[in-house]
Amino acid sequence: MDTLIQFAYIVSAALFILGLKQLGSPATARRGNLISSSGMLLAIIAALLDQGIVQYQWIIVGVLVGGAIGAVVARMVEMTSMPEMVALFNGFGGMASLLVGWAALSDNASTFTLITIVLSILIGGLTFTGSLVAYGKLSEKISSAAVQFSGQQIVNSVIVLGILGSAAMFCLDPTNITWLFAVIALSLVFGVMAVIPIGGADMPVVISLLNSYSGLAACAAGFAVDNNILIVAGSLVGASGIILTQIMCKAMNRSLSNVLFSGFGSGKTEATVVEGEIKPISAEDAFYVLEAASSVAIIPGYGMAVAQAQHVVKELAELLEANGAEVNFGIHPVAGRMPGHMNVLLAEADVPYDQLLEMDDINPRMETVDVAIVIGANDVVNPAAREIESSPIYGMPVINVDSARTVFVLKRSMASGFAGIENPLFYKDNTRMLFGDAKESISGLVREFNS
Ligand code: NDP
Repeated sequence: MDTLIQFAYIVSAALFILGLKQLGSPATARRGNLISSSGMLLAIIAALLDQGIVQYQWIIVGVLVGGAIGAVVARMVEMTSMPEMVALFNGFGGMASLLVGWAALSDNASTFTLITIVLSILIGGLTFTGSLVAYGKLSEKISSAAVQFSGQQIVNSVIVLGILGSAAMFCLDPTNITWLFAVIALSLVFGVMAVIPIGGADMPVVISLLNSYSGLAACAAGFAVDNNILIVAGSLVGASGIILTQIMCKAMNRSLSNVLFSGFGSGKTEATVVEGEIKPISAEDAFYVLEAASSVAIIPGYGMAVAQAQHVVKELAELLEANGAEVNFGIHPVAGRMPGHMNVLLAEADVPYDQLLEMDDINPRMETVDVAIVIGANDVVNPAAREIESSPIYGMPVINVDSARTVFVLKRSMASGFAGIENPLFYKDNTRMLFGDAKESISGLVREFNS
C-alpha cells in the first residue's frame, strides 16, 4: 500500500506541473486547471489511504463543511472581487499549515522536525493575519491607506528578533511549550505589522507574495508530517507565487522593496497640472469615425470588468471586422485588478486568442492604428508614465494609445484610476471622451452599426 501511495504522489506531482504549464496560455488554461485539480484529488485520496489516519469521521465532516462553503463562496463571488477571495484562501492555507505544524508536535520529535514545525507555524501564522489585513484593505472593510508611524521599522525588528529568539528557545527546549505560544502570537502580530504600512493600491502584489508564503508554510508542514506531496505542492506554490510577484513588480517598474516599504497608494500622491481641454464625443459621432477606420485597437481595463462589457465588446469587434477593419486587443500585464484579469474576461466572451496582443507587441503597431478604443482603462494607458518625471507612476510601461490617430476613452467621469493620479491622455488633441458606463456606450456603438 505504501508503494502505491508514493506512486500516486508522483503522478499527482506530475499532474500539478503539467497543469501549471498549461495555465501559461489562455488557450490551455481551463484544461490546466482541470489537470491540476485532478492531481489534487488523487493526492487527497492517496493521503486518506495513509495508515497514519486513525479515524475518518472528522475528516468527512471537514470535507463536507469546507467544500460546501468553498462552492457557495466561489459561485457568489463577483469577478472584480476575485483578488479578495484569493487573499482569504491564502490566509486559510497559512492557518492550515500552522495547525498541521502544531499537530505534528510529539515528545520524540527530532531537531529537524522541530525546526520545520516552527517554520510552518511562523510562516503560516504571518500569512494568515497578513492575508486577512490584505483582504480587509482590498475590500475596503478597513481603510486602504498605508499606516506608517515613526519607529515602525524598530518595532518590526523587535518583533522579528522576538520570533527568532522564541523559535530558537523552543527548538532547544521543546518541553517548554510557552516558547511555541510566543512564536504563534508574535507571528500573528507580525503578519498585521508587515501589511499595514502598504497601501491598498499594492495589495494585489502583497497577495501574490503571501500566496508564495502560504506555499512555503505548506512545504514546511510537509516536512513536519513527512508527506512528500505536501512538500512538492508547497514548493510549487511558493515558487510560482514569487515569480508572479516579480512579474507584477516589473509591469509597474517597481522593486519589491519599493512595494513593501514605500507606502505607495496611501493617497498622498501629488496632483499634476494638466493642460488642454476635454473633448466629449457622442456614440453617433464615434460611430462615423469607427466606420471609416481600417485598423482598430481595443485596450480594456478595470472599468470593462466593472461594467461586465466583455460580451458587447466582442460584438463590436465582430462588427468592425465585418466592416473591413483589422481589430486587435492590447493587454497590459496589470490591467484590471489581478494578473490575467482581461484575458479571463475576453476568453469568457470567446474573443479569439490570436487577437489578444501583449503590450510589447501592440506598442510598435500603435502608430498605424486608426482608432484606439480605451475601455475603462486609465493607469495602464497614462502617458504621464513616460512624460512626467515627478509622476508616481513614472517609468511604468504603458500602452501608448496616444500614438494612434484617434483615441476614444470610454469611462463614466473624469475620476482617476487605481493609482489616484491625473491622466494627460484625456486632454490630448487626438483624444475624445465617450462618457458613460462602458457597457452602455459600447451597446450604443453596436446599435449604430446595426441601424
Ligand atoms: P484603473 O483602475 O487605472 O482605471 C479604471 C477606470 O475604469 C477608472 O478610471 C474608471 O473611471 C473606469 N470605470 C470604472 N467603472 C466603469 C464603468 N462601469 N464603465 C466605464 N468605465 C469605468 O484601471 P487599469 O486597468 O487601467 O489599471 C489597473 C491599475 O491597477 C493599475 O494602476 C495597476 O498598477 C493596478 N494594479 C493591478 C494589478 C493587476 O494584477 N492587474 C495588481 C496591482 C495593481 P470612471 O470612474 O470615471 O468610470
